[in-house]
Amino acid sequence: MFSKIVIANRGEIALRILRACRELGVKVVAVHSEADRDLKHVRLADESVCIGPAASADSYLNIPAIISAAEVTDAEAIHPGYGFLSENADFAEKVKKSGFVFIGPNAETIRIMGDKISAKKAMIAAGVPCVPGDNTPLSDNDDENFKLARHIGYPVIIKAAGGGGGRGMRTVHTEAALINAIAMTKAEAGSAFGNPTVYMEKFLEDPRHIEFQVMADSHGNAIHLGERDCSMQRRHQKVVEEAPAPFITEAQRKFIGERCAQACVDIGYLGAGTFEFLYERGEFYFIEMNTRVQVEHPVTEMVTGFDIVKEQLRIACGEPLSITQDQVKITGHAIECRLNAEDPKTFMPCPGTIDQFHMPGGPGIRCETHIYNGYKVPPYYDSMIGKLIAHGETRDGAIARMNTALSELIIDGIKTNIPLQQDIMNDTGFAAGGQNIHYLEKKLGIH
Ligand code: ADP
Repeated sequence: MFSKIVIANRGEIALRILRACRELGVKVVAVHSEADRDLKHVRLADESVCIGPAASADSYLNIPAIISAAEVTDAEAIHPGYGFLSENADFAEKVKKSGFVFIGPNAETIRIMGDKISAKKAMIAAGVPCVPGDNTPLSDNDDENFKLARHIGYPVIIKAAGGGGGRGMRTVHTEAALINAIAMTKAEAGSAFGNPTVYMEKFLEDPRHIEFQVMADSHGNAIHLGERDCSMQRRHQKVVEEAPAPFITEAQRKFIGERCAQACVDIGYLGAGTFEFLYERGEFYFIEMNTRVQVEHPVTEMVTGFDIVKEQLRIACGEPLSITQDQVKITGHAIECRLNAEDPKTFMPCPGTIDQFHMPGGPGIRCETHIYNGYKVPPYYDSMIGKLIAHGETRDGAIARMNTALSELIIDGIKTNIPLQQDIMNDTGFAAGGQNIHYLEKKLGIH
């Protein structure tokens, strides 16, 4: 095992990685911005290095500063967490060239899977079903684009090949709107992701978002840990996640899961990853792969009893997978509510000082957060301040536990989305399970 690693992230995921390191006896170097000196994991780390001013571009995205932090502290590896540089192939490459281990897949894999067009091509080659569409960059030829959209059939969706975070997507319902939508998505993709390439696929009107967790080692072994349902979304961003996905059969889990694991072997994948699908009328359609640990990994950990983050560290050290596919057992049901510092009605971010924080507890409850009494939520980063996870013997049992936990949870001083999460947990449609990705926005009156 490594003796010391750098955690190139902040907030709850940095704390989660620190805890995994502690269990494995690995020393931790926390890197942080000037605005993040008081982060919980910075206080708990063995060493810490300030890597720049508050703005992410100058700190958490500052590749030379992070690599020099690893050099001066004599660390062996860098864990990127999620977001920031976690899916940046250049970062993975530079980490390796500087003599450190990047805890994740190799740069080439990140490059292929980070581009949604090449990812879809790789998945088609591996026999994984994809959303119907033309998997090539859209040209500037209007006639060709009209032809393509007619061929796919309206509605279509224009997506940025390098997109992420639910941004860089535009749905087109009519021919009249097509050309403008392509131009706008290209411009947005160019400025947001530094890559103006866009592609077109069928817009599915009634899908659920179902994703498969995989883990692959450097010895040619890969397993899947079942699926998660992340259909409760707002603006293409997940709000509630659960495992297993309601109404997915063991046969479907096995069929798609095995294809995902095999695709990992085919592409030489390393570490933790997620294959995201849209699921409609009994069919799975691949949309993208995330080549990193995900926000919602705890629901899979709760139903499998398997520690994904510790396994990431072991795999990065060259160890073989610690379990085989036969040893993966799904027990009970787990639900995660994302906790955001935002107005529950307007969704405006709401940074500020937390006057009072009480963490809920009891059987099956897990709270992943870096906040504490007196912690100041800075305005510079994502508004997610934690996650509450409930595990129960059944889905109803997990919802009941989540409801109890939400009623015990106190975060005073800032506005949070706790009322929204309570509303979802008491919603009859959510209780029924299996709602589509538009359900939450319809409930909120957004459509
Ligand atoms: P990102 O990388 O930004 O997360 P994804 O490709 O994973 O983007 O898509 C995020 C969400 O956008 C999906 O969960 C779904 O809600 C919506 N979406 C993406 N592609 C389609 C599609 N072809 N049809 C309908 N909705 C889609």
